[in-house]
Amino acid sequence: MTTSKFTEIGRALREHQHFAVLGHVRPDGDALGSQLALALSLKKLGKDVRVWNEDGMLEKYSFLARSDLMSKPPATAEDFDVAIALDTAIQNRLGTTVQAVRSAKVWINIDHHPSNPCYGDLVHVDPTAPATAQILFELISDQQLPIDSEIAENLFVAISTDTGSFQYPNTTARTFEIAAELIRCGVDVGRISQLTYENYPRRRIELLRELLATMRFDLGGRIASFSLSMKTAARLNVLPEDNEGLIDHLRAIRGVIVAVFFEELADGKVRVSMRSKIEKVDVCAICQKFGGGGHTLAAGARIRGTLAEVEERVLKEICEVVKRNS
Ligand code: AMP
Ligand code: MN
Ligand code: MN
Repeated sequence: MTTSKFTEIGRALREHQHFAVLGHVRPDGDALGSQLALALSLKKLGKDVRVWNEDGMLEKYSFLARSDLMSKPPATAEDFDVAIALDTAIQNRLGTTVQAVRSAKVWINIDHHPSNPCYGDLVHVDPTAPATAQILFELISDQQLPIDSEIAENLFVAISTDTGSFQYPNTTARTFEIAAELIRCGVDVGRISQLTYENYPRRRIELLRELLATMRFDLGGRIASFSLSMKTAARLNVLPEDNEGLIDHLRAIRGVIVAVFFEELADGKVRVSMRSKIEKVDVCAICQKFGGGGHTLAAGARIRGTLAEVEERVLKEICEVVKRNS
């Protein structure tokens, strides 16, 4: 795996003026928090920065400091010196933001997905980092880039959400050291955690009730899944972002090794989210078979077919892997 040193990336950040900071479609806290944090640091260096995500800012993360900087990409492309992809395993997950970048002398790719093929000119992919924001913190420290309480807050939320509140096994001593540093930079943990985890719209919990009604167990309870049809999503008026994290209710069940969430999409595909509780059952490898990717314990894919067809194919594949490895 090619890895550009922080010095090379730091030099590119200082040398150039026009930056596009991009993240993956259907963004999560790590994508949005990382984008805002790096953009704010670059702005403090006096740079011109655009912060684009195909989906724009999500309502649920609109409490992030300077969330107003995030927008959907414009219809007409702009010129840049540098385009930066954050938390994005494959370039096509940047979605429509790519077309809005007409030319960029340098593409920088900073990510923590092991399936990242290392696209771009300056690449820093560290699969041991639990969040892209952790890599950004190391970059900011190493290169002495600007940091303030707003930047720290964005990094904190990004790390907190990608580690499941500092619980997943990729959370290391270093992660807690960084969290402590971020608190020293001005993060109010109680306030920011409440905004992140105790501020859901009621429809999210109504959605959970519907999902639990479809809950199914396979292989003697080692695989748990539930699914969401477009019909149900429309009836409840849910936003795509409302289901982020609901899969954790399945993962939390004793005896469950793999949790799966199936979501019917408007384009004839099904979005599949997978979580594993043991390294031996690598859900990234399973998702890659279906054209997706991610991490060993958390991965996803978008698969063509009806909800029933995709459920059948995917559950069959998972059954085989779980049988062989547990
Ligand atoms: P999710 O289940 O959507 O929270 O995604 C879990 C992990 O898998 C994240 O780290 C995603 O970046 C990755 N992932 C999800 N969907 C895809 C996909 N279609 N292709 C590649 N990676 C994905
Ligand atoms: Mn992400
Ligand atoms: Mn991430």
